[in-house]
Amino acid sequence: MTQAQILTQDDQTIAVIGDLISRVAAAPASENTISPFLGRVRAALGAQWVAFIQFEEPRVIVVDGDGFDAAPQMTALKAWAKTIPAGLQINSVVPTEITVSAMSSAVAPIINQSEQLGLFWVAFGQQHDFAQSETTLLKLTHELLTILAINLREKENHEATAQLNISLLNSISDPLIILDHDQRLLRLNRAAEAVFHITTDQAQGKSLLDVVQSPELATMSSGSIKPPAEWVSPDEKTFVPHIEAVRDDNGQLEAWVLVLRDITHYKRLNRNQSEFMRIVSHDLRSPLTAMQGFASMLELGLVGELNEKQQHFVSKILSGINQMTGLVENIQDAGRYDPQSGFYELSRSQCDLGDMLRRIVDNQLVPAEKQLNISVSVADNVPIINADATMLERAIINLVDNAIKYTPTGGKIEVAAKSENNEVIVYVRDNGLGINTDDQAHLFERHVRVARQEHKKIKGSGLGLFIVRSVAQRHGGDAWVESTLGTGSTFYVRIPLDGPNIVTAAAKE
Ligand code: ADP
Repeated sequence: MTQAQILTQDDQTIAVIGDLISRVAAAPASENTISPFLGRVRAALGAQWVAFIQFEEPRVIVVDGDGFDAAPQMTALKAWAKTIPAGLQINSVVPTEITVSAMSSAVAPIINQSEQLGLFWVAFGQQHDFAQSETTLLKLTHELLTILAINLREKENHEATAQLNISLLNSISDPLIILDHDQRLLRLNRAAEAVFHITTDQAQGKSLLDVVQSPELATMSSGSIKPPAEWVSPDEKTFVPHIEAVRDDNGQLEAWVLVLRDITHYKRLNRNQSEFMRIVSHDLRSPLTAMQGFASMLELGLVGELNEKQQHFVSKILSGINQMTGLVENIQDAGRYDPQSGFYELSRSQCDLGDMLRRIVDNQLVPAEKQLNISVSVADNVPIINADATMLERAIINLVDNAIKYTPTGGKIEVAAKSENNEVIVYVRDNGLGINTDDQAHLFERHVRVARQEHKKIKGSGLGLFIVRSVAQRHGGDAWVESTLGTGSTFYVRIPLDGPNIVTAAAKE
């Protein structure tokens, strides 16, 4: 006779309960925990079968013993469970839809906060009288199974959330790296795994430097070092790196997220665009120059006298050619003067702004029918500056040209220069269409034009102001506008009177 067989029924019950508790405590959210202890419960009761059924995901069906096939009857079981009152029910009537061979049974729905999670059911082949100790065992088993079911459910939810997080990270096409507060690697998304040729599993716990193999990226999380504006990977992709500290509600540092924004595509487009601009501007210039030469010969009567109509048409042709030449020059300048991507070396010389402004206004083509009043004023204290005269002239021509374009007939334009606070300010003021505050914000960006009907009627490329600001910035200064819609605008260019912009005493001699 074995030890188990000589135990009294109460002793057995206590032993089974002790075992169950320790199993649930040791592996609280494991499906594998359930099967062995249902076996112990069945043995202790001498039951035909004992079942634990969890309806919701993760669906779990554990039946110890024979005589009950739960899987095909889930819908009926679920419906029945809803009708069973909470707590252990002895010899409940089983609905006819459920096929089961049992003479006696005890059943209890597994409920968490009014949600039906599942069913605990024990059955006997013959009529069974439930002893006190048996109902105690069943009630405790039911309670433990409820805990297990809740834990399983939470584990499932947690795993689903974790999986969702991973899927979300992987769906981001830019490389993304998560570090813990000690800057040890926690996770890379798929794009980062591809760039750094390492999997999350291999990288976990390593330092950022070990993974990215780039000191300039690795030092980003120190916070004190300015991140590199761009980073080029070994396989020649260009990224803009950005690092963000993640803090909890109390401001405690929890993690770092490093994102590398892939701008390879834009870089390539930009290069193509610059190349395109170069070809267009170069290839357009030669025929334009030839056209201008021939049209001027016609206009001057060098190939025979023109009648009035012919004169008129030739002047129209010339004005069209001038417009196109200006556009081509702007395309060229926008590429060359761009502080970010331009390759134009400043060619400094002594510039007399007074002379320059007068020359610009004298040479500017003003449509006769517009009858604009254009004045030039240069304050006495404006010094000779050491600047790129060609660049500066192109910038101011653009401002004057705009003032003429966007000021209706009879308007007034003032072109001026003054010196204050150790800088020279050139400004062009008009009483034309004006620009509202929202539109002013992006005016100096490439190809930006005011989207108002009265502006659209006037031809333009949106490059002029981009050149103006680029030129000012290349001289260490800036450009801006003050304007009121319907009243007029003043465009300013500021050149600081310091560094290479000043004409030194030696140079003056
Ligand atoms: P565009 O070739 O279109 O004139 P710009 O870069 O020189 O390009 O100017 C950008 C836009 O700013 C213009 O399209 C116009 O809408 C607005 N703008 C520029 N100068 C003036 C001005 N003096 N008055 C009103 N609007 C102006």
